[in-house]
Amino acid sequence: MAQILDGKATAKRVRGELKREIKRLAVIAECQPQAVFIQVGENPASTTYVNMKHKMAERIGCLSTIVRLAETITQDELLECIQRYNTDRTVHGILVQLPLPDHIDENVIVQAISPQKDVDCFHPENVGRMMIGLPGPKPATPLGIVTLLDAYGIDVTGMNVTVVGRSNLVGKPLGIMLLLRHGTVTYCHTRTRDLAAECKRADLLIAAAGRAGIVTPEMIKPGAVVVDVGTNFIPAVDEHGQPVLDEDGKQKSKLVGDVDFAAAEKFAAWISPVPGGVGPMTIASVLSNTVTLYKLIEGVE
Ligand code: NAP
Repeated sequence: MAQILDGKATAKRVRGELKREIKRLAVIAECQPQAVFIQVGENPASTTYVNMKHKMAERIGCLSTIVRLAETITQDELLECIQRYNTDRTVHGILVQLPLPDHIDENVIVQAISPQKDVDCFHPENVGRMMIGLPGPKPATPLGIVTLLDAYGIDVTGMNVTVVGRSNLVGKPLGIMLLLRHGTVTYCHTRTRDLAAECKRADLLIAAAGRAGIVTPEMIKPGAVVVDVGTNFIPAVDEHGQPVLDEDGKQKSKLVGDVDFAAAEKFAAWISPVPGGVGPMTIASVLSNTVTLYKLIEGVE
């Protein structure tokens, strides 16, 4: 039976370390770290993520501001808002919650955030710095995953690593970070000829496709480390296969990953659950990037 890569407990530990770090720096820095979380529109998932990041930032002793903007805001108005915080000396981290409404170009927005304040690490300059191993923020979800592996003493050196997914957000930067840690990395995507075979030879298998149950137990090498990044909402059913309804008679939904967890945990040596695996680590990484950027901006160590 696999051991659990517990993201919830590890994220709590990381937050504790960051809190102590901020306290230590308070005596040498001129100001407290401050993060600004910008949300456009009222997407409920975005509201949940932004509220969570805000709450966690405050808990570690970071000042935190949520800016909620109307769905109808123009791209220029959003750019103006970002620019205000780019030039605000008291702000060290800016995050614009994605996705954005269709009339706003995400690439333009991501590149408008000053690389010095880019806590999600989406800016091309920061992605480039990460690739060549320079100091700065790291892509949040990939950083959360490597931090989780480190917490359990899992050394990627020499491992066959298969990353299912090649998005700019998760798969691509994660593969690079694992390569920098001396893994032998294979990327899979929708054009991969034999996904099962590529997964089966992985000592470390990362599932980041956003497809519920895409990784089945036959695809897992016995003794492998399995990290499930997927967050998929599927209709909830009870043990008899009947729909689980809410008080209004609507079928509830259930959060699952990309891996068939119940079956996979019989083969894997380590596995991250959904929920409670990568999700909390991503938020911890946003906070960790905020502290990293604060130290760089304020010139404190
Ligand atoms: P994305 O942009 O949709 O990318 C998905 C990737 O998976 C693409 O590269 C795609 O290949 C590949 N893929 C999709 N279906 C596949 C299939 N059947 N076989 C092989 N490859 C397949 O998604 P993302 O932003 O990377 O996110 C991936 C998942 O992680 C989502 O469920 C997302 O919600 C979750 N996520 C979780 C966290 C967290 O903190 N827990 C953070 C970020 C993302 P192509 O490139 O060929 O299209």
